[in-house]
Amino acid sequence: MRVIECIKDLKAVVRTQKRQNRSVGFVPTMGYLHEGHLSLVKMSVRDNDMTIMSIFVNPTQFGANEDFDKYPRDMDRDMKLAEMAGVDIIFAPTVKEMYPDGYKTYVEVEDITKVLCGKSRPGHFRGVTTVVAKLFNIVEPEKAYFGQKDAQQITVIKKMVKDLHMNLEVITCPIIREEDGLAMSSRNVYLSNEERKAAVILSKSLFEAEKIVLDGEKRKSKVMEHLVKRIHSEPLAKIDYIEIVDSDDLKEVEVLEKNTLIAVAVKFGNTRLIDNVLVGG
Ligand code: AMP
Repeated sequence: MRVIECIKDLKAVVRTQKRQNRSVGFVPTMGYLHEGHLSLVKMSVRDNDMTIMSIFVNPTQFGANEDFDKYPRDMDRDMKLAEMAGVDIIFAPTVKEMYPDGYKTYVEVEDITKVLCGKSRPGHFRGVTTVVAKLFNIVEPEKAYFGQKDAQQITVIKKMVKDLHMNLEVITCPIIREEDGLAMSSRNVYLSNEERKAAVILSKSLFEAEKIVLDGEKRKSKVMEHLVKRIHSEPLAKIDYIEIVDSDDLKEVEVLEKNTLIAVAVKFGNTRLIDNVLVGG
């Protein structure tokens, strides 16, 4: 496994791959790897001749009061985990390499970036689509792998790829969870022991909601009522949003039918966690 920091060097490797007709799978991450990230790698290794993982904590997707500076980083550990999982190349550029002085260009998907996480994190998705578009241009993958954990991110990136005629396939990978159901996240390390225990309410309430729907309740109001009640039953949980939307356009639905996304964002202390289930997918 090689670690490459320069865009120029990575492009040279990609060029050689293309010349040899070898397919490139791409797994973009912000590092501090866990089993969720590695499950994406596994899919990429299975499907492609070469797997490139980016590790880049992207400043443009963090708000001014967010955790860019203290976002967990551990390159040595990440390198070991990535290599064991079968990554061929880690692309780990500096912020200067990605955004040199005088940088001016941003990619923005409208409307669907203003709801759910976009409401409480204005500018977040503009940063995400910008960095992902740049990374796609550098890596030129045939396939790129993203986790269902960040459901809105998937919808937004798929829209960008379609609208900008980008020549790659976006593959959605299932959410990997801890044994008690908590969705794995690099941010889980911020949680105190008490908050960690409390955070299980997210997956618990979502699975209950899923069961309610599978048992025949299709009214949004009823499903929502249950979710609010259950999450509120945990004193440490502060709800940012609970939304029931169509997973393609993120518009609210009144009746849970096909492709309905139940998504929640909840704060435990200063840590904001997200989780979701897709019903009738
Ligand atoms: P991040 O490093 O948090 O930006 O995540 C990088 C990629 O890993 C994104 O596509 C995430 O959706 C995905 N990911 C993060 N956590 C999980 C998880 N628990 N299960 C599956 N994919 C995940």
